[in-house]
Amino acid sequence: MSKEELNCSFCGRAKPQTQLLIAGLDAHICDKCILQAHGIVKEETSDEKEESRFDVELHPPKQIKSFLDEYVIGQESAKKILSVAVYNHYKRINYTKTKSDIEIQKSNVILVGQTGTGKTLLAQTISKLLRVPLAIVDATVLTEAGYVGEDVESILTRLLQAADYDVEKTQKGIVFIDEIDKIARKSDNPSITRDVSGEGVQQALLKLLEGTTVNVPPKGGRKHPDQKFIEVDTSDILFIAGGAFDGIERTIKNRMNLQAIGYNTKEELKKVDTDNILQYITPQDIKSFGLIPEIIGRLPVLSYLNPLDKETLSTILTTPKNALVKQYIQLFEMDGITLSFTQGALDFIVEKALEYKLGARGLRSLCEAVLNEAMFDLPESDVKLLKVTKTYAEQRLAKIEMPALKVV
Ligand code: ADP
Repeated sequence: MSKEELNCSFCGRAKPQTQLLIAGLDAHICDKCILQAHGIVKEETSDEKEESRFDVELHPPKQIKSFLDEYVIGQESAKKILSVAVYNHYKRINYTKTKSDIEIQKSNVILVGQTGTGKTLLAQTISKLLRVPLAIVDATVLTEAGYVGEDVESILTRLLQAADYDVEKTQKGIVFIDEIDKIARKSDNPSITRDVSGEGVQQALLKLLEGTTVNVPPKGGRKHPDQKFIEVDTSDILFIAGGAFDGIERTIKNRMNLQAIGYNTKEELKKVDTDNILQYITPQDIKSFGLIPEIIGRLPVLSYLNPLDKETLSTILTTPKNALVKQYIQLFEMDGITLSFTQGALDFIVEKALEYKLGARGLRSLCEAVLNEAMFDLPESDVKLLKVTKTYAEQRLAKIEMPALKVV
């Protein structure tokens, strides 16, 4: 048989009508049939594929920042630094796939700032944008394996659950560890012989932050001894740690003053913005809180969140996409009630929030306290309009036991 007489055994096309004809043992296949067959194979196996492939869309830092702007008020520095860290982190994951010799290290983040200033909100917003699972854990409940409390591995159980047990997704997720400042080592205290909740936990955390493979109990805890473990690699998980580091301003000031004696002139000292001292934070300051240097090294991106002032709290109350006021208006609207607030009422709520020192967290409790009675009574009434004035807010709050407001 001459070359010209060859045909595709599948579609029958003669060789001159094909771009490529591949020979098998007793048959030939043309380029078109190969493509078609490839499509069929892909379709048939697509279910499995979907499970095992999860790509995070890469967003450049400016895009991340403007998404954060929609939800998080102020905190410009933290938003910028976080946007870059997140971008680099997911770029690194894609880059690793190309198997380059240069290994880019992780950009785990540590955020320092008082409670209710938006640390958790930042992590939540990033996970919303990237559509990656997020686990929020409190460092204070973690203990070394074998002790009462939660193993450090339980963090990964939470992340697995947030990812609906999709391991690929879990491995590209975000873990927010709150109150990292509370697991300081307690070696200053000689009466503690075994440092269960301090350095031990830090050591265990260290491995997760670095990247390791962990056998995770899918249901968590030790109550289900028969459960099969799921293997999770933490190398590509982004860790964001947060903490208030109470009194760190003093540490920063001390450090800066000490340096002043050395080589800073008085003129240079004058340039220091003493109202906002957190902006000068360095990893060294965190170390004095009892975090081991290795942990600090594994959280290389450091940023701070400003305490929320009156103006910021006021904006938080009314402006973000899911601002509290907008949420309550919507809730009332569902019952056919038009809710509005006077400026005086809003200012009053903000002033009270400042008083309670709960950051923006206080706003929620205050709104709840002001509106609870109305939310209880109005749905079954004829009232179709509720205007919250300063007097109304004052009266409602006066009726409530103040300590109740502390419950968030
Ligand atoms: P923390 O710093 O203690 O983690 P959160 O992020 O949990 O504080 O904030 C508590 C709540 O307060 C959030 O759910 C959000 O509604 C509000 N909030 C705090 N900071 C901000 C901010 N900068 N912008 C908008 N809302 C904020």
